[in-house]
Amino acid sequence: MASCPRVRVRTALSRSGLPDLDYSLNPYVGCQHGCVYCYAREYTRYREVADRWGSLVYVKENLLSLLESETKRLKPGTVGLSTVTDPYQPVESVLKLTRRSIEILLKRGFKVSIQTKSPLVLRDLDILATNKDSVDVGFTIITLDPRVASLLEPGAPPPAGRAEALRRISERGVRTWLFYGPVIPGFNDDSESFAGVLEAVAGGIDLVLVDKLRITPRVRASLSSTIEDIGRIETAVRSGAWWSGVVEEFEKVCARLGVRCLASLAEPSGAAMKDLERFASGR
Ligand code: SF4
Repeated sequence: MASCPRVRVRTALSRSGLPDLDYSLNPYVGCQHGCVYCYAREYTRYREVADRWGSLVYVKENLLSLLESETKRLKPGTVGLSTVTDPYQPVESVLKLTRRSIEILLKRGFKVSIQTKSPLVLRDLDILATNKDSVDVGFTIITLDPRVASLLEPGAPPPAGRAEALRRISERGVRTWLFYGPVIPGFNDDSESFAGVLEAVAGGIDLVLVDKLRITPRVRASLSSTIEDIGRIETAVRSGAWWSGVVEEFEKVCARLGVRCLASLAEPSGAAMKDLERFASGR
């Protein structure tokens, strides 16, 4: 059980450097899902949260009042919810900071792009379905194998539930996407695993994004405590040949299944970025 003390923060919205987002909003610092590959742990100024990733989460207690005032003076744009935490981690089921943030943003003319690993987002389907032109929802699914998922994403809901939630959201007319990342050598870099995940969400997605593992110092330490032979993984990730082979195979899967696919978010081509911008501009 994670500890979730309160903190006060200075801002609610941050400018985003991502190509399809104007702002990011992270209601919590840290993430109870505790994925061993998560590099968000590198982006917090709270060292104790990075050291106890998954078991210590700070709740931004003044988030909603800040958001009310910031949305009155900032130019409306698309807000990524969230970029360094999961907006629907377990604590959200009680505190509803994400739900209330979405309500404020939509009321003020902002658009919302959600990324999560949790079917808890279904709780807010009433808001999402009535604002379908202003929202999109992405699920991260890197494997359908529950044993691999519980090894790599120990606090996150099982992947089958995510796929089901994604299909249900799509059926309500909300634009949805799949994030297949990180791709980890020996775990989910084969085209069968990738195709299996695409087929599980079949017909339910407008876009697939693929990203490779990024090994930062904290990620290396976290992976080393979970996976044997991290050296072999690191060597493969640094190899251009491994990644270009993965991208080539994944693009074939996307073509076969008729899915729009940005298969190399790590090193996107100009055409791929245009695809992403087209998707974003449809919000
Ligand atoms: S759900 Fe996302 S933010 Fe949370 S630990 Fe996993 S990768 Fe990190």
